[in-house]
Amino acid sequence: MSEKRKITLAYGDGIGPEIMEATLRILYAAGAQIEPEVIEIGEKVYKAGVLSGIRPEAWDSLRSTKVFLKAPVTTPQGGGFKSLNVTTRKALGLFANVRPVVTLTPFVASKHQMDLVIVRENEEDLYAGIEHQQTQDTVQCLKLISKQGSEKIIRYAFEYARAYKRKKVTCFSKDNIMKLTDGLFHKMFDKIGEEYPEIIKDHRIIDIGSALLADTPEQFDVIVTLNLYGDIISDIAAQVAGSVGLCGSANVGDQCAMFEAIHGSAPDIAGKGIANPSGLINGALMMLVHINQPEVAEKIHNAWLKTLEDGIHTGDIYKEGFSKKRAGTAEFADAVIERLGQKPSILKAVEYEKAVQKGFQIKVSPIEQQEKKLVGFDLFLDNDKLSPETIAGILKNLENDSIYLAFISNRGLKVWPDGLPESFCTSHWRCRFKSHNLENAIEPSEVWTALKKAADAGLEVIKTENLYTFNEQKGFTDAQGE
Ligand code: NAD
Repeated sequence: MSEKRKITLAYGDGIGPEIMEATLRILYAAGAQIEPEVIEIGEKVYKAGVLSGIRPEAWDSLRSTKVFLKAPVTTPQGGGFKSLNVTTRKALGLFANVRPVVTLTPFVASKHQMDLVIVRENEEDLYAGIEHQQTQDTVQCLKLISKQGSEKIIRYAFEYARAYKRKKVTCFSKDNIMKLTDGLFHKMFDKIGEEYPEIIKDHRIIDIGSALLADTPEQFDVIVTLNLYGDIISDIAAQVAGSVGLCGSANVGDQCAMFEAIHGSAPDIAGKGIANPSGLINGALMMLVHINQPEVAEKIHNAWLKTLEDGIHTGDIYKEGFSKKRAGTAEFADAVIERLGQKPSILKAVEYEKAVQKGFQIKVSPIEQQEKKLVGFDLFLDNDKLSPETIAGILKNLENDSIYLAFISNRGLKVWPDGLPESFCTSHWRCRFKSHNLENAIEPSEVWTALKKAADAGLEVIKTENLYTFNEQKGFTDAQGE
């Protein structure tokens, strides 16, 4: 018998304790060699005034065991509470969120067949949560995408596909609109994909990609995408496969990993003993592979498939005709335990490769040094009184031998020069000053000189963004209609 592996464990909120208890009973009955250290996270901790939902001492356990089996938690609404999941993923560098989705028809009703894995970037994108309100009527959220972050997740997706003998990796992005942020992700996908000639590469714009995922999911194998899109499409895929209650998720970093169900704490059914523990069971299976106990994972996985095949179903997947018995959480766990050692007869039994640790060490290429030139700046104004023409009249006085006023836009649409009177404008204005020739850099002092002059002329400047070129390529986009 191998030595017990210490793990950190949290029972969470809502249905968390019920599904965790069911999952642990199955793990122990199957012979998992684990020694949990229990930490308290979630609602109680939030309500004790810890805005992150996790106490400082819990990090000690996580940093020492490096493996976290976590039940879902409730994030209280309002009050400045931060998502515990987002904090944990970022603090522990869990850059890859891996969410396999498999249909189990005809035993779990689904309109489709699918066997796919969503690999979601976990640390960047709009989930950086950098939001501001700077005018009465408009708020903003900063979307941050890095070369390193993109390379890491895309490489992970290809390495995963290679290790698990998957044939195709599809990238989902919206680079037709967000040409720099999503464009970088798509470019990195094309570049890194060249290193995996045996794998088919494909790209879909996220909107049609999501539609196809809901309609013909069988065409997808591994999907790699940015944080927000990945969050949304993994719920779509899980629901199309039968229930959000079925799927598990691994959050993997270079050093630590966290395993959970994809669903939340389901307060509407908490305490009723009817929740489906399958999502957390599937998360725990990925954990067992990660801690090198694949034979235990295989045993539980096959018993779980056999249970579903025998028609023992929790309420969320119960369907007259398909299901034979409506089981509660504990009953479902009992049924899986009874079937340990058995294999499904109609569904395909799983075989975990022995002792394959599927944690990849992902190397990130060094960033090439580029020639960076300051060639202009965007001056943002809060204004609900002056017309674009009047603003332009004032800002024209800021022009000099180095810079000129190129355009004024509102919510991304150019409204000066040659704006249309029909365009609706908010109080959030962007005024672009550019170098007369993009090959010529301007002095950084141009920015603060212009800022001061604009303020002296009575305009309310709320922020500036610098415009750079990198190796003569523009590091900024144009306005719509420019
Ligand atoms: P949810 O996933 O908790 O529930 C959505 C619906 O699915 C509900 O009708 C619920 O009853 C059902 N459902 C979910 N899991 C189920 C299961 N195992 N068995 C049967 N039915 C199940 O989503 P929500 O209601 O939007 O969120 C509730 C809380 O969970 C919120 O506080 C949210 O912040 C939190 N949340 C936590 C996590 C996490 O900890 N990983 C993830 C998502 C949401």
